[in-house]
Amino acid sequence: MSKDAGRSDAGRSGRTGLSPATLAVRAGEDAARAHRATQVPVVYSAAFGYEDVDTWVDTALGRREGHIYTRNTNPTVAAFEEKVRILEGGEAATSFATGMAAVSNTLFGLLTPGDRVVSVKDTYGGTNQLFVDFLPRWGVEVELCDTTDFGQIEAAIAEGCRLVYLESPTNPTLKVMDIARLSAAAHEAGAVVVTDNTFATPINQNPLALGSDLVLHSATKFLGGHADALGGVLCGPAELIKKVYHYREITGSSMDPMAAWLMVRSLKTLVLRVQRQNENALAIARWLSEQPQVEAVNYPGLESHLHHDVAARQMRGYGGMLSFSLRGGFAAVKRVLPRLRLAHLAANLGAVETLAGVPATTSHVECTVEERAAMGIPEGLVRYSVGIEDVGDLIADLDQAFAVA
Ligand SMILES: *Cc1c(COP(=O)(O)O)cnc(C)c1O
Repeated sequence: MSKDAGRSDAGRSGRTGLSPATLAVRAGEDAARAHRATQVPVVYSAAFGYEDVDTWVDTALGRREGHIYTRNTNPTVAAFEEKVRILEGGEAATSFATGMAAVSNTLFGLLTPGDRVVSVKDTYGGTNQLFVDFLPRWGVEVELCDTTDFGQIEAAIAEGCRLVYLESPTNPTLKVMDIARLSAAAHEAGAVVVTDNTFATPINQNPLALGSDLVLHSATKFLGGHADALGGVLCGPAELIKKVYHYREITGSSMDPMAAWLMVRSLKTLVLRVQRQNENALAIARWLSEQPQVEAVNYPGLESHLHHDVAARQMRGYGGMLSFSLRGGFAAVKRVLPRLRLAHLAANLGAVETLAGVPATTSHVECTVEERAAMGIPEGLVRYSVGIEDVGDLIADLDQAFAVA
């Protein structure tokens, strides 16, 4: 667990006045560096040794800084947590083996049987499975509201709940939730707010500054950005992070040091990547809206988006994810997708390379056709994760593929 415990770090954005572009490159690394290395090393050691029992005991009890065993904490993993903590502006952070471990450990670490959760129908497919299958089995009631009906969500919250779970923008239809408004409603009801910020990244949106108590990421996506490592991370107040960290250190879904090293390295270019992906995605969304083969485009940066005003208020950029539906439905999608030369047809997103897919094989692979229909996710939707390639090349690629639509 990484905590702002007065380390002589370059981070702590509020106090240093450094911008995210600088912090992403430099912050959070000092404690992990050794032997005058300018880079954070991969510390592949299961345990950390002590010369005397008193120091060992003090470290184990958290009375002094240090590592004991890599399932609990590790220097490389701590550098990753510290970088994200600083970029999200949280007091503490902890990490996980995957994004779903971040989601599940947060929910199981904070909830007890008899608790009620309010969330929405459009959460990530795996998260939705926790809500409809696993949590009810452990005696936790979950109410899933209409994602875009903020009044209905507020009413459900006002009936009383322990936790409100938000995700914005959503996967795969890019719906936007008003984080400040719903956090205020949750706090009135005495509930804790958790926001999945995977699609926005800390560069485009900081849920903690908008009132959410906790923010989590699938680091596998934009934070890692190169589609080669899995991870998850959670930031927020030390007291809440400690609870979830304790659940994670005991149940064991800890991040691997090699994954953490890849993440630290990738985070250095996060600002450059996200800026480019924001620009590319907006240009592609605008182009798609003008194509006769395209029925609808979902992108929060378009003025036509249902909650463009909310997105403009709470986001600094609209992100690299968009989705669109083609006239001709699933049959047209099956003809067009294989013709794309500059998009991997794969389940991942947020990488430097453009990826395309359909919800049935990507975000909502965990759900049945009926479950997807109930969530309002059309089978003929294309999810398009925009990379950092030249935007002219990407548009030309879509254009030649659409010729068969
Ligand atoms: C991918 C994803 C997750 C799950 O992350 P994994 O790293 O695949 O476990 C959670 N939330 C969102 C929004 C995602 O896109």
